Amino acid sequence: MVKAKAFILHKRFVGEPKASDLKLVEEDLPPLKDGEFLAEAVYLSVDPYMRAYADRLPLGNTFIGIQVALITESKHPKYQVGKHVVGSFGWRTHTISNGVSVAGDVPILILPDLGELPVSLGVGILGMPGNTAYFGFLEICKPKAGETVVVTGAAGAVGSHVGQIAKIKGCKVIGIAGSDEKNKWLKEELNFDHVINYKTQDVEAELKKAAPDGVDCYFDNVGGEISTIILNQMNLFGRVSVCGAISGYNNRNIKAGVVQFPLVFRQLKMEGFMVLRWTDRWMEGILQNLAWIKQGKLKYRETITVGFDKMFNAFVDMLRGVNQGKAVVKI
Ligand code: NAP
Repeated sequence: MVKAKAFILHKRFVGEPKASDLKLVEEDLPPLKDGEFLAEAVYLSVDPYMRAYADRLPLGNTFIGIQVALITESKHPKYQVGKHVVGSFGWRTHTISNGVSVAGDVPILILPDLGELPVSLGVGILGMPGNTAYFGFLEICKPKAGETVVVTGAAGAVGSHVGQIAKIKGCKVIGIAGSDEKNKWLKEELNFDHVINYKTQDVEAELKKAAPDGVDCYFDNVGGEISTIILNQMNLFGRVSVCGAISGYNNRNIKAGVVQFPLVFRQLKMEGFMVLRWTDRWMEGILQNLAWIKQGKLKYRETITVGFDKMFNAFVDMLRGVNQGKAVVKI
């Protein structure tokens, strides 16, 4: 009999999540039925949306999350032993699946052959965050060569990717992140044109210097005051892709100023999105991002924590900004 370990939501998060809000449990898994397979977690993702979505998750449920898992047993013709799958199986070590994802979750897919690349990319640049950058930026900002693009959360999984796509598209890119070390990576390795440390620098003044002709596209990962400052420096008919608002996930009582002024006077187009809007084009994003990696146009970093028992630490570290690129947990 296979024993699975899982983290369940034990108490509602208040402010920053506490380790005691989750509980580690063990489950005995039943034998496989026809049409099912057993997947053993290899890499689990920790993402900001978990903090926001946890408010809706019933207490006692397995905590949410995407993972790359190895198929170790199968009674399903499509899901063969030895293949890696990516699915929203939650924070658990072993999962029995029939290959059908729950409505509103990322599709369960067999990871394409990544060659020399690590399978962990299936929860990163070649998975949900990668598609968030690809579709959320290109479809909503519709960047043109020569335009100025600002991205916040710039050294994270989505932000570091968006900035690089903007460079591929011939734009000038300004990244805003929370440490000099992160900004050094963005500037020196990812070729961002300008970087701003929002923790130590005056974002308004620095942005005026970096974008004297104004901002055409803004990819918003953080919301709050920084976003209001950026909106006020946008050009006429600028486009804003609202991806997330991590500055408010632990604290919803943020005063961010009246964003309607720049929206009206600069006639901006601001649109929020959920990456699952593009589920029917999921593989297009993955294959394009894979091609850019192979062409040397797209680079990635991962911050890897080792051990299933360290899931919570990795999660809170990511919310605090410890990660560069994608935060993942290796089993
Ligand atoms: P990430 O950027 O890899 O990690 C989170 C980062 O947020 C941290 O490293 C930290 O970096 C930054 N941060 C934390 N608190 C902050 C604050 N108060 N102000 C500014 N930055 C703060 O995470 P990700 O997976 O790439 O996600 C980025 C955003 O995209 C999140 O808002 C997430 O919810 C959103 N998202 C949306 C979708 C969608 O479908 N709409 C899908 C995926 C992700 P610093 O050191 O720079 O502070």
